[in-house]
Amino acid sequence: MLSVQEAESIILNLVRSLDSNQDLEIVDLEAASGRILAQAVVGNLDIPHWDNSAMDAYAVSYQDVANCSPEQPVTLEVVTEIAAGVLPQTEIKSGQAARIFTGAMLPVGTDTIVIQENTQRSGDLISIQQAPKFQEFVRHQGAFYQAGTPLLEPGVKIGAAEIAVLATAQCTQLGVYRRPSVAILSTGDELVTPEQSLQPGQIVDSNQYALASFVAHNGGIPVRLGIVPDHPEELKQAIALAIASADLVLSTGGVSVGDYDYVDRILTELGGTLHVRSVAVKPGKPLTVATFEDHNCLYFGIPGNPVSALVSCWRFVQPALKKFSGLADFKPCLVNATTRHDLRAGGSRETYLWGQLQLTEGRYEFALAGGSHSSGNLINLAQTTGLAIVPVNQNLIPQGSEVKVMLIS
Ligand code: AMP
Ligand code: MG
Repeated sequence: MLSVQEAESIILNLVRSLDSNQDLEIVDLEAASGRILAQAVVGNLDIPHWDNSAMDAYAVSYQDVANCSPEQPVTLEVVTEIAAGVLPQTEIKSGQAARIFTGAMLPVGTDTIVIQENTQRSGDLISIQQAPKFQEFVRHQGAFYQAGTPLLEPGVKIGAAEIAVLATAQCTQLGVYRRPSVAILSTGDELVTPEQSLQPGQIVDSNQYALASFVAHNGGIPVRLGIVPDHPEELKQAIALAIASADLVLSTGGVSVGDYDYVDRILTELGGTLHVRSVAVKPGKPLTVATFEDHNCLYFGIPGNPVSALVSCWRFVQPALKKFSGLADFKPCLVNATTRHDLRAGGSRETYLWGQLQLTEGRYEFALAGGSHSSGNLINLAQTTGLAIVPVNQNLIPQGSEVKVMLIS
């Protein structure tokens, strides 16, 4: 049986590197939020676009005011007013100044801004008693970014700040990685959809919906293929269709050692190589990961238990999906926290206990979810923000001690 770390590294190695041509999609700026850049963005505008004022003030030539003081104030004539957004029409000569507002272009003949608080105005004249610094409060053209240099690198996820940068640089068409398509299927004769009326013994297929939400949240396109019964031929057809059409396949159920667990056998019959079959982890020990010679597809056979299914997704599928969507260097986010409860484990497998991670006075604390921690209980999985990890060979992390917690976002 593989350790969690071994399984994780095998899985990450199986995710093929994305190709910035083949896996490219061009999107408009408005549709770019949440996407990942496949190509470097190079702007063709300096930022700031031109020298402009950082204040509501007066634009002057430094030479005129370099030596002024309360004893020897300098008086300048205000010959023009420049609002943001207009091209200055008047050249400023020695002895003159321009009234200027934040963001407005500096007129020819000026190089320094004197803030209005340091001036006294009377009619068209201003008196300056305090010498500014040379070029003070001028935002120079290209000071923040020079046209033609890389603005954002491939692998960057586009959020609000990146959108602002791209908009200001007038980059409105962006090369992003296409989203990986992820086929999701639930296996089990006992399963019904949430809309169907429940007959004795049946179980509602929650995994289909949970996994679709998980996939969408992590940058993939979920393709729900529905419930497939534990019937070898039907299952084989459904799996064959899934691997032929998707980048990733997530099936739940049918990977343990029960009489109706056909998934591994079918994957082999379809020419699959099984790289992972079980992992020393709880919940979620039976985990199958397969690739196929004829299809560029990574297959995850995930245990059917809803808790095991989601924990397996958070721990093993998420890094693969992030890599597949082009995110540079995704790592599960682990923090040190103090546990508010005893954390118990069997010792033979790395154990993930679900609960809430809370920030109290600048320190993380972990509160174990109340109720049963059986992998059959999915009710207390709601509101999970962290998975506390009890390492192999450890049976207890006592209340008040430090524990590693994986952040669930
Ligand atoms: P299996 O992994 O197929 O042995 O299933 C383990 C347990 O999880 C069984 O109790 C199943 O009924 C349950 N289960 C399997 N698939 C799902 C699903 N899609 N949604 C909810 N429960 C499931
Ligand atoms: Mg089953």
